[in-house]
Amino acid sequence: MTQQQPDSLETLRKIYQSHSEASLKDYFTFLSFKSISSEAAYEPEVIRCAEWLKSYVEKIGFKCELWETDGHPVLFAEWNEAGPDKPTLLLYNHYDVQPVDPLEEWKSPPFEPNLRDGDVYARGAQDNKGQCFYVLQALKILMEKHKHFPINIKLCIEGEEECGSQGLASILQTHKEQLKANYLAIVDLGIPGPQEPAVTLGIRGIMTLDVEVTGSTTDLHSGSHGGLAYNPIHGLVEILAKLHDESGKIRIPGFYEEITELNTAELGQLAMDFDPLKYETEFGNKPTGGERVYTHLERNWLRPTVEINGVSGGYSGSGFKTVIPAKASAKISCRLVPHQDPEKIANLVASFIESQAPEGLSVKVNIHPGGGKSVRSNPTSKSVQAFAEAFTEVFQTRCKFVLEGASIPVVTELALASESEVVLVGVGLLSDCIHAPNEHFSIDRLEKGALVIARAIELLGTISSSLQHNN
Ligand SMILES: [Zn+2]
Repeated sequence: MTQQQPDSLETLRKIYQSHSEASLKDYFTFLSFKSISSEAAYEPEVIRCAEWLKSYVEKIGFKCELWETDGHPVLFAEWNEAGPDKPTLLLYNHYDVQPVDPLEEWKSPPFEPNLRDGDVYARGAQDNKGQCFYVLQALKILMEKHKHFPINIKLCIEGEEECGSQGLASILQTHKEQLKANYLAIVDLGIPGPQEPAVTLGIRGIMTLDVEVTGSTTDLHSGSHGGLAYNPIHGLVEILAKLHDESGKIRIPGFYEEITELNTAELGQLAMDFDPLKYETEFGNKPTGGERVYTHLERNWLRPTVEINGVSGGYSGSGFKTVIPAKASAKISCRLVPHQDPEKIANLVASFIESQAPEGLSVKVNIHPGGGKSVRSNPTSKSVQAFAEAFTEVFQTRCKFVLEGASIPVVTELALASESEVVLVGVGLLSDCIHAPNEHFSIDRLEKGALVIARAIELLGTISSSLQHNN
């Protein structure tokens, strides 16, 4: 697998650069679709985006289908002409994006891509249209170079990642045969710095729920009822305050039960340098959250969290309104680590919250569907090794191994349905402002991303199928 192909990267780079102007135009077209998946009003734009993508992928040489779901369509594409002796790589991306508000904070309109100082500004510039686009460029340049692909390639590009991937999850069993692959590359991850290549060895899982605390059937006068009625907001914050102890440890019984800690050798594989000052400068807050007995990256990568994402209730308009509100609510999410089952954890959190209900208030918990387990890849697997080698070549710096605190819920189910081994890659940076105003992605990383994918595919092409699962 490590056979030398010294000219290969340069050949690919030349082909890429000869098309860079035309491909930038295509990238801008892709970014101009308002494919916001979480808001029903944008559905026609989401569909138009999927159709544009389908014709773009067909032109590269793929057989494409748009799979209908209850939500947005999934683009599936395949090229199987490398034959059964070669491995099959399934590449996952998503074409949907996050909403854009607050709109007034954008320096250029989010759906009118703008190139400034080597960065393209637009919603989706990185997450995930940018990373999807360089995958397609990688395939284009490989096709131009070889007139075929070195391995069999399938693409699964969904339109609901930003709102839970329910559509894709619901059709995985129906399309199990078509999805079958040896390797599944999730191209929705990042690297620690612009010159620091890394393969991500794992992501955390996720589970979300709503809590509603109800007192009376209507808001009450805080004078006439004050001292008699139990205020639901007080009840809610009392419950929320019990979720963690003073050291940041989660107090829910059984929450940590299934976790196994990494041994020294496993920890030693990870690049765990974290600069708290750099973090503070970049994000304006000190990294003091989580379980304080652990180091920063242990807290972000290896430990689960319970996070309060939103609290509402009562009067919060201008002026004043002296009420004891009828109800109060909160949104809570948990990030999970290996062996924690989202459903089991959801039930533990729900029963803890319900058991803390003050007398006189009713507490209801609504667990959301669409949670996902944590994912971990084996650093010695063929696919991880091929991508690490490609990263090292393209960045001319030794590729590191990292973990990621965020989640992509559908990964576990997609890996199971396709019976493939997961590798998590991407060239995003924490500073790309994904999900926020002024999201951007650099032209330089667009090129590097394409070259990494293309080289990894060439390297996977040197593995014979009998060795595919020989880790
Ligand atoms: Zn996203």
